[in-house]
Amino acid sequence: MDIHCPQCNEPWDTFHLLEDEISNGYDDLTDDDFESFKLSRGMLEPKTQTALESRGWKFAGKNILSFVACSCCKDNLDWMEENLSTHEFQELKTIFASRTTEREIFCELLEHDLDGLLSTIAN
Ligand SMILES: [Zn+2]
Repeated sequence: MDIHCPQCNEPWDTFHLLEDEISNGYDDLTDDDFESFKLSRGMLEPKTQTALESRGWKFAGKNILSFVACSCCKDNLDWMEENLSTHEFQELKTIFASRTTEREIFCELLEHDLDGLLSTIAN
């Protein structure tokens, strides 16, 4: 099951986010951080959140599934800006801003209901 980034439309597999993403070259995190993260079903400790945010991730809540920007946003948006017309790019940015606001609202409403959040935002 994928969740698309609301700002760049990159699809992210939920299993990857909950199990693998933080073990993907984050040198500041330890094996204990990885195990704690996996056991918590994606809840972000400040150290883990800071490590992810250093790569472009942004979150509307305290779970990794509440992301509103991802590590691919910069590259994806740069590509879109270079390859789409100005009008098309501006229309996409408007759609992405609307999706981000919608994601923030869902994350606030369902912060303590991970399954509810997942079923609402996953594709
Ligand atoms: Zn993104």
